[in-house]
Amino acid sequence: MTVHPDDAELGAGGLIAKYVDQSRKVGIIDLTQGELGTRGTAEIRLEEARRAAEILGVSVRENLGLRDGFFENNEANQLPVIRAIRKYRPEIVVTNALEDRHPDHGRASRLVNDSLFLAGLRRITTKLDGEDQEAFRPRLQLQLIQDQYIQPDILVDITDYWDVKERSVLAYTSQFNVVTEDDQPRTYISNPEFIASTRARAQELGRSIQVKYAEGFTSRKLLGVKDIFELY
Ligand SMILES: [Zn+2]
Repeated sequence: MTVHPDDAELGAGGLIAKYVDQSRKVGIIDLTQGELGTRGTAEIRLEEARRAAEILGVSVRENLGLRDGFFENNEANQLPVIRAIRKYRPEIVVTNALEDRHPDHGRASRLVNDSLFLAGLRRITTKLDGEDQEAFRPRLQLQLIQDQYIQPDILVDITDYWDVKERSVLAYTSQFNVVTEDDQPRTYISNPEFIASTRARAQELGRSIQVKYAEGFTSRKLLGVKDIFELY
């Protein structure tokens, strides 16, 4: 559950591909269409998001259509998030970085965090297709590490899934790895070096747990594990 189409791929594409491969049900909810992005249009980004979702193999991708850049963490925006949570009832939710270069990221993270809590309160009533929804709160919430480096609380080995992740990111042809001349402005992320730095981050994180590529996540609460022999 992230704010811009492409946040999920960049921050958790490996994690998503890994659990899809293990036959877990994985879905992506984008909060906005990223309509303020310097390059491309909302329509182009929707189509790119659809292709990226296909590459990752997720079972669902939905866009809540909040206002890119200007959405606030208020009731009007919490309700659609609550509705989506109650609709899909995910065990684990991954959302945007706690704070980041792009102010939407931290704001989306707080919006999702508050909405996950509220989704568990039965006195907040929501309807889907005219039917009352049941209260539901996911068991665990994790945050991405995005542009700004944040010390992760947990690292996940994505070595076998780096290629799928990279392909899913590159599906956003209007945004990343722009090597040909076109009439649109160059941006910080359209430079091919941006994807190279994403790879370098995954390698750096991977090296700290002796694997080739890893993705890092933070948790707002302490994490527990049933079996310490699962840790390495
Ligand atoms: Zn973003």
